[in-house]
Amino acid sequence: MADRADVVIIGAGAAGLFAGIWAGRTNPQRRIVLLDGARRLGAKILVAGGGRCNVTHDVVDETAYAGSSRNAIKKVLRRFDVPQTVAFFRELGVELKREETGKLFPVTDDAHTVLDALLAAVRQVNAFILHPYRIESVEKVDGGFRISGKRGTMEAANVILATGGRALPKSGSDGHGYTIARSLGHSITPRVFPALVPLTLPRDHFVCDLSGVTIPATLEVRASSGKKLVAFTDSTLCTHFGLSGPSVLDISRYYTAAKFDDPGATLFINWLPDKTPEQVDADLLALGRVSPFRYLHAFMPERLARALCEQASVEPTVPADRLTREQRKSLVRTITALPLPVTGDRGFTYAEVTAGGVPLSEIHLETMESRVCPGLYLCGEICDVDGRIGGYNFQWAWSSGYVAGVSVGRE
Ligand SMILES: Cc1cc2nc3c(=O)[nH]c(=O)nc-3n(C[C@H](O)[C@H](O)[C@H](O)COP(=O)(O)OP(=O)(O)OC[C@H]3O[C@@H](n4cnc5c(N)ncnc54)[C@H](O)[C@@H]3O)c2cc1C
Repeated sequence: MADRADVVIIGAGAAGLFAGIWAGRTNPQRRIVLLDGARRLGAKILVAGGGRCNVTHDVVDETAYAGSSRNAIKKVLRRFDVPQTVAFFRELGVELKREETGKLFPVTDDAHTVLDALLAAVRQVNAFILHPYRIESVEKVDGGFRISGKRGTMEAANVILATGGRALPKSGSDGHGYTIARSLGHSITPRVFPALVPLTLPRDHFVCDLSGVTIPATLEVRASSGKKLVAFTDSTLCTHFGLSGPSVLDISRYYTAAKFDDPGATLFINWLPDKTPEQVDADLLALGRVSPFRYLHAFMPERLARALCEQASVEPTVPADRLTREQRKSLVRTITALPLPVTGDRGFTYAEVTAGGVPLSEIHLETMESRVCPGLYLCGEICDVDGRIGGYNFQWAWSSGYVAGVSVGRE
């Protein structure tokens, strides 16, 4: 005879823990069990934000997300917003502080504070967490679901699928949740790909020789027609394999998505984000005896300033008034609109989040209950929703986990 619970939550990451807490708070009579395949719980919470856990952002709205329709995303986000998130954590004894970027972190600067508080809140509502307890399959049976894994079988009236996506697979989120969702009648978006991921360049590209250089820059995706599709300005890091840093992570999913539909789409970088090509051209014209290198070095590290001159075939120390028109134009292009021959990305192992998943159109957004499999709820990164860097992905996990938890508690 299988063990029986009222609610089984598969996955005890950010979304699953939140769903468990709110299911228990909504209906303390229900027997709630969380099952997680990981040996160590909360791996992603602990690594997030460099070990400090960027819990949310000061201003969260649907424009920071991609995947399903923004209108659908908004409906869920507004059910549990940032002030509610701040109040929730405060009630658990986790005070959040806002940093200059708008990101919110625990005042302790330690992600353990967040994980420990969530685990304590789960215990407080008498929900159980069993792990490592990886689930292989979920079947619909009379009166609910049969949930099976190597460690055994459970039955439950309701299941919340909170298995995450495929990012950082060693944390336990290896994409098996998609197989489970499919087996229960859901579709998965035709494309599931790494988002918030560093991008790679050919090993002999000059950027790879600038490993360690960090600079604010604008990354922009343009269609093969030349149309500007999307741009992000933020800190940009040159690495031995290509580019990383917030601007690159933010643009990565848009670049990858654009390439699927338009193989000629290209990523451009402006190394002087405060300046347009026209302004740089005017600046160079006004330099007189000053060299382009000196001009650039005022804004960026010496290695980068020198490399940009070399890329434009301009002798770095030549006085600017000796540049030919062609050389000046080439320098302007190299500085403000350099095409990057991206070879790919660092894959799910290095991605912070997954683009794609279960479309929100298959979920009742007022409850997060499946439209195709009554009694099944979904929340978190398994859904086709991915946010920018800055706490947006956790906010999606909190908001959608809250809606799923409260709704299943009311069943
Ligand atoms: C390095 C890194 C840093 C990040 N930093 C931030 C940040 O600072 N701020 C932010 O907002 N977001 C950040 N993110 C993204 C954020 O961590 C995720 O979006 C969020 O954790 C998703 O929550 P989730 O509960 O949906 O999925 P997950 O956190 O992936 O949890 C899913 C859980 O399900 C379990 N599971 C999966 N399959 C099964 C199965 N078959 N059986 C049983 N259990 C299973 C897994 O073991 C896992 O514990 C970061 C991500 C990474 C990888």
